[in-house]
Amino acid sequence: AKEAGRNSWRFFESRLHEATQARVEIETCLRGALERGEFRLVYQPVGDTASGRIFGAEALIRWDSPVLGAVAPDRFIEIAERTGLVVPIGDWVLETACRQAAQWQREFDPGFHIAINVSPRQFRADDFVSRVAQVLAQQGVAPHTLMIEVTEGLLLHDHDEVLKAFEALIAVGARLAMDDFGTGYASLRYLKHFPFHTVKIDREFVRDIGNDPDDRVLVDTAIRMGKSLGLSVIAEGVETADQLAILRGFDCDLIQGYYFSKPLSAEGLHAVLAKALVA
Ligand code: C2E
Ligand code: CA
Ligand code: CA
Ligand code: CA
Repeated sequence: AKEAGRNSWRFFESRLHEATQARVEIETCLRGALERGEFRLVYQPVGDTASGRIFGAEALIRWDSPVLGAVAPDRFIEIAERTGLVVPIGDWVLETACRQAAQWQREFDPGFHIAINVSPRQFRADDFVSRVAQVLAQQGVAPHTLMIEVTEGLLLHDHDEVLKAFEALIAVGARLAMDDFGTGYASLRYLKHFPFHTVKIDREFVRDIGNDPDDRVLVDTAIRMGKSLGLSVIAEGVETADQLAILRGFDCDLIQGYYFSKPLSAEGLHAVLAKALVA
């Protein structure tokens, strides 16, 4: 038994070592990845629930590392956050997404909305708000078409400081969305304290609305609450016609998910927008 214990400890230790090793590898490859041009953005359309029209898109980062292959954001954003690399990477996301949105706004629809994900470290950098203002002006993007998505992780930091940045962003004209709503401990309190424009209901709650009456009640309630607070509501992770029909019944404003569209390359979304214009 003692031997087995020692073996399982060794097993555990080696697994831990592997995990640490993988993180170190990601961190090493992450350094310089931006300069080497290894990132690109994909765009997941957000649809108007009632009309089915494209309202805008969320920009999502993709990393094709020549050493590690494709690395999902869930695996590297946290490491980028911890090392501070997320600040220049996030700045590239902001600028690239705005440049792309400006092009689609000119070509197809001046009201096309673009959403970006901003991590706490990037959001809390001293020059974040002025950088947003600068990029909007440089790219010619109407501020109200830029949505900045943040998660509860940000709101755990100094409230006054974060609130000030929120107010400054609103003064610039940009919009703020609470991402992954319902997954944290204090989502409700934050909705009350911070001037969000939009709330995105996490896909964890949307997933089972087709067969779980409790989840149906939760999502219905979240949508009503968001709307009675004057917020616009997006349901994430909509994968089936059934889920869409339920969300329509709940009067959800906007939907996002594989049923409407998977994330697309810039060229891919361009083609979809061009087709929608003709139709
Ligand atoms: P998120 O902001 O909640 O983004 C939504 C995620 O759900 C995306 O994963 C998207 O591809 C996926 N998704 C969309 N529709 C469906 C669906 O119907 N079913 C399922 N199962 N999944 C769906 P992705 O692109 O892997 O991104 C994961 C997370 O990484 C994002 O979650 C966000 O927190 C973070 N992230 C992505 N891009 C950036 C970025 O540019 N900056 C920062 N700071 N974080 C980013
Ligand atoms: Ca998001
Ligand atoms: Ca989300
Ligand atoms: Ca998420």
